Amino acid sequence: MTAKIWHPFTQHGLGQPIPEIVRAEGATLFTDDGRAIIDAISSWWVQTHGHCHPTIVAAIQEQSASLDQIIFAGWTHEPAQQLAKGLSDFLPDSLDHIFFSDSGSTAVEVALKMALGYWHNQGHERHRIVVMDHSYHGDTIGAMSVGARGVFNQAYAPLLFDVGSIPFPTEGAEQVTLDALTAFCTNQDNPPAALIIEPLILGAGGMKIYSSKVLAEMYRICRQHDVLFIADEVMTGWGRTGTVFACEQAGITPDILCMAKGLTGGVIPLAVTAASAPIYDAHFSQDRTKMFFHSSSFTANPIACAAANANLQIWRDEPVQLRIDDIITRHKDFARQLSEHNNISAIRQCGTILAFEIDEASGNYMSALGPQLLRFFADRGVLLRPLGNTVYLMPPYCITDVQLSTVYSVVEEAVEHFA
Ligand SMILES: *Cc1c(COP(=O)(O)O)cnc(C)c1O
Repeated sequence: MTAKIWHPFTQHGLGQPIPEIVRAEGATLFTDDGRAIIDAISSWWVQTHGHCHPTIVAAIQEQSASLDQIIFAGWTHEPAQQLAKGLSDFLPDSLDHIFFSDSGSTAVEVALKMALGYWHNQGHERHRIVVMDHSYHGDTIGAMSVGARGVFNQAYAPLLFDVGSIPFPTEGAEQVTLDALTAFCTNQDNPPAALIIEPLILGAGGMKIYSSKVLAEMYRICRQHDVLFIADEVMTGWGRTGTVFACEQAGITPDILCMAKGLTGGVIPLAVTAASAPIYDAHFSQDRTKMFFHSSSFTANPIACAAANANLQIWRDEPVQLRIDDIITRHKDFARQLSEHNNISAIRQCGTILAFEIDEASGNYMSALGPQLLRFFADRGVLLRPLGNTVYLMPPYCITDVQLSTVYSVVEEAVEHFA
């Protein structure tokens, strides 16, 4: 008997076709039956410079021929050292301790453990994590615990730990969010260890956008009350919101910053949890019981680090910011064009991400429209995977003008078709 592949976030019982991709280049995917598909969601938000970028391909080839994998507990290697050094040019100065792992979810788990360890090692027991409604931080148990509860994790709900939730700062009601955060931060009986936040835009929760002013204000409240601030930049990092990291737009420096998806240009799994000196120092001791108890087999895999170094090289050598700015300008024009349709709502943009709801006033992940839209787009040669009735674009920065125009016209066709 041949083993069957069990795909993620896929209901096999619906019997929908699962197309096969045999090759990819730039923003184009090629199917086994010879079709070309435009990758308008960066292969699930990871690809930044496009598929099979020669600089990254070469780095992987070269690295895999000289040092492929080595234990990272108590040993080190040049690609990791180079990456830590290179990241300093992109991160705020105070985020100067780099911890490696393999995915966004583990980067978040690491951040939570660092935050709890920070308090524990200093003799304070602080365990409460404050989160924002509609957040998504990954699919492992800890990451699910700090993420939105719902159909995604109903079966596991009894295992998820309690958190303090603040409402999403909808426009006009930002103060409610800030007051809720202040209330948690000033609770003397159960002071929070940390706030974890997706800066500027909540991704999987429906591409919900809030202002940099609110972000800065949440940061100020945490600072004032000595609550650690964790920025989950797994999706927003590496240019998505228009700056390398979203936190830049609020002028804030988190205590801990998580990145993954675009870190290797979206080519191989690698994640970083960057921490400030006080977090590291709380684990620095002659006492072995205070070390940071976390690792995975492939921590800082040299091939993955080489791919990330190549990503940094591309950011230094190529006009990446210009490409991003071009997408931002084109999205703005398209948003204006879309606003003429009356069966869509909440057209919004955060950097290179453009989103809107179709047919209903608000997003609903289980909307039957989702799979229909996906099919509609795929049949027309565009990879888009709406979150229910929330359609969003998140193209790789290498997407050409012509490709972007094609994506826009297919989206507009869908808006008219499903009207
Ligand atoms: C995708 C995502 C994660 C999880 O990353 P994985 O690599 O899929 O584990 C965590 N946080 C945010 C904000 C994400 O978008």
